[in-house]
Amino acid sequence: MKFETKLLHGGISEDPYTGATSIPIYMASTFHQTKIGESKYEYSRSGNPTREAVEALIADLEGGTQGFAFASGSAAIDTVFSMFSAGDDFIVGNDVYGGTFRLINTVLKRFGMTFTVVDTRDLAAVEAAIKPTTKAIYLETPTNPLLRVTDIKAVADLARDHGLLSIIDNTFSSPYVQRPLELGVDIVLHSASKYLGGHSDVIAGVVVTKDTKLGDKIGYLQNAIGGILAPQESWLLQRGMKTLAIRMQAHLANAKAVFNYLSDQPAVAKIYYPGDPNNPDYEVAKKQMHHGYGAMISFELQSGLDPKKFVENLKVITLAESLGALESLIEIPALMTHGAIPRDIRLKDGIKDELIRLSVGIEDEKDLLADLDRGFKAVQRS
Ligand SMILES: *Cc1c(COP(=O)(O)O)cnc(C)c1O
Repeated sequence: MKFETKLLHGGISEDPYTGATSIPIYMASTFHQTKIGESKYEYSRSGNPTREAVEALIADLEGGTQGFAFASGSAAIDTVFSMFSAGDDFIVGNDVYGGTFRLINTVLKRFGMTFTVVDTRDLAAVEAAIKPTTKAIYLETPTNPLLRVTDIKAVADLARDHGLLSIIDNTFSSPYVQRPLELGVDIVLHSASKYLGGHSDVIAGVVVTKDTKLGDKIGYLQNAIGGILAPQESWLLQRGMKTLAIRMQAHLANAKAVFNYLSDQPAVAKIYYPGDPNNPDYEVAKKQMHHGYGAMISFELQSGLDPKKFVENLKVITLAESLGALESLIEIPALMTHGAIPRDIRLKDGIKDELIRLSVGIEDEKDLLADLDRGFKAVQRS
């Protein structure tokens, strides 16, 4: 089955009991066991038919064998790290989601795990960071907010050669654009609150594995820790996922148009977009991203121009954190998503005060470009 067909007919796509083409929301905490030890479902933390359907679907879409749904992307990430123990070291991409850094620095480190932060685009640096205690390489590509692209296959190969697991947060691409398991990665996870759900109405996370032993470990921890996705949310997530391909097509086309438009703006100092042929990561992006280069674009205004005036004068694009929604969302990393990072460190990482991050939605292209025009007129007046 092709990806677009899988969205509707892959995984578990109809109710085995009634034939309903939308899996019912099974609001049940427990299940009648007619014979002890022979029931498919016992208790909804360990298994629920609505959750199981969306888990089977995401496994299918990522090209894995087992999928797991969690109450949030953060719960998914925490559960994955719970496979490891005190004393274990991890190589982590230097540009990962802020909440992941928060989990690492304020929670996981207290449990005795250690972390080596590296620009994962630099394979030699990744290899040099491997210690006897290193257990896994954890990264995002493209990254947030500078959309840096790491060669997934190269990192997966390196990890395997050193007996390490490779773990990728695939939130920014969705499986329509990028499927890391097919490139040899061991564990793929998502904040399904973004493109997978797609409609700004559900907080969820997913984990997908290919190797059954690894999958069984995640399944065990999902039940032991209990950060599961509830039946209502599981249903919402599956409903949202059915339109992933057509949504992504619209996102990707609009992103390209926005990139072309921004390229001609004298007020723009720099654009970060993996689909920019002048981007140093372009060749790697071309190799591993399908259909397009994602729909996240960051850009820097010329120094001295006020990004606040830009975002506050927009009428169509919503000033908000988050991404991957149907609606275009815009934000200033220095003041919003990355505001907690000390300014000197932030600047050293390349996140300037004038940087604006845009999650390109599926509105009409002309309306989006006209809105951006409004923003540029507003900063020019200042
Ligand atoms: C939002 C996000 C998360 C966290 O997911 P939640 O669903 O908000 O808990 C993790 N990784 C990335 C890349 C994200 O954008």
